[in-house]
Amino acid sequence: MVTNEFKEYAEAALIHTYDRFPVAFDHGEGVYLYDTDGKKYLDFAAGIAVNAFGYHVEEYIEALKNQIDKLLHISNLFYTEPMVAAAHKLVKASGLKRVFFTNSGTEAIEGAIKVARKYAFKKDGHTDHEIIAMEHSFHGRSMGALSVTGNPHYREAFGPGIGHVVFAKYNDLEDVRSKITDKTCAILFETVQGEGGIYPGQAEFIKEIRKLCDEKDILLILDEIQCGMGRTGKMFAYQHYGILPDVMTTAKALGCGVPVGAFVVGERAQNALEPGDHGSTYGGNPLVCAAVSKVFDMFESHHVLEQVNAVAPYLDEQLSKLVDRFDAVKETRGMGLIRALELNVPAGPYIRKALEKGLVIISAGSNIIRFVPPLVITKANVDEMYAILESCFEEIG
Ligand SMILES: *Cc1c(COP(=O)(O)O)cnc(C)c1O
Repeated sequence: MVTNEFKEYAEAALIHTYDRFPVAFDHGEGVYLYDTDGKKYLDFAAGIAVNAFGYHVEEYIEALKNQIDKLLHISNLFYTEPMVAAAHKLVKASGLKRVFFTNSGTEAIEGAIKVARKYAFKKDGHTDHEIIAMEHSFHGRSMGALSVTGNPHYREAFGPGIGHVVFAKYNDLEDVRSKITDKTCAILFETVQGEGGIYPGQAEFIKEIRKLCDEKDILLILDEIQCGMGRTGKMFAYQHYGILPDVMTTAKALGCGVPVGAFVVGERAQNALEPGDHGSTYGGNPLVCAAVSKVFDMFESHHVLEQVNAVAPYLDEQLSKLVDRFDAVKETRGMGLIRALELNVPAGPYIRKALEKGLVIISAGSNIIRFVPPLVITKANVDEMYAILESCFEEIG
């Protein structure tokens, strides 16, 4: 716990866009974090689905250190070996064709929107194409990504957005179908909605939208920024449905801690953007790409997907116990290691109490506890988490 004095000192120099928890983290080891007082915490948030391997992973750090000694940054005017290696590994893992590296998730969404608009522009020369996005979606905070984010509260004060965006109900095929016009250039959604409350896409919905997009030559853009990179038990969540998107966005666990994202295009959209159409000074620099490349290697050498598939049913089982035991708990849902515990009451008090007891969990909406732990957690870690959470429900009710 930080002192009030420290808190005031911090807030004096930071724009107040976050109501931060009164903890300052200092370092991490495995799936544990340590604050500046040396207090230990079990981490079930992973820096919001970023730190797939937990903390202080020697081989990952070594890969970064080696790259730092060679070259941190050059520019996209030149090739670097780390970028080429990272791009090929991402292409292989996604089943798609070509990659553009960005510095964040929101920038990956900006790129995906540009791909869709350019793809449609090349067909008819018009600039009035529409994107269908989903209610309760989250795609980021920059103006384009905000414009396709289905949470009016995030958008309201910042309008007008990019325009020509319509929202449909997630997992409601008929609603999406009714919003398609001859101007529609893309349908965009998270394969598993994250911030909106952890709602997996239904197989029927995803497969039918894929068909609709094929019939009408509309691009299917899947946002895998939170649910991708192994979290659902496959490298990318859409791989559960036997389909490929035309454009996919990734970030968060892609670099496991360095700021990197990407938009990845498939067969149909691979030549939409041409020289001069897009760029980034930092995007995919050698440092972040050395990280991405190492992350993909570690997914294989550490058998991460097998681990996720082994531990996730156990997490589900334990969370289901809380549903049975406490009236405050309504249900649990999710896929792999992206799970929700929906409460009948606000989640804040439980999350704060858990933090006091040394467990880091976060919310997704006011009454939902979100579990996006490092992908390397064990059943023993789940037991440890359960014991703390159970005591929170026993104490608060
Ligand atoms: C976090 C997130 C983003 C935004 O990523 P940033 O790196 O914060 O810009 C976009 N889409 C989804 C689904 C996310 O979870």
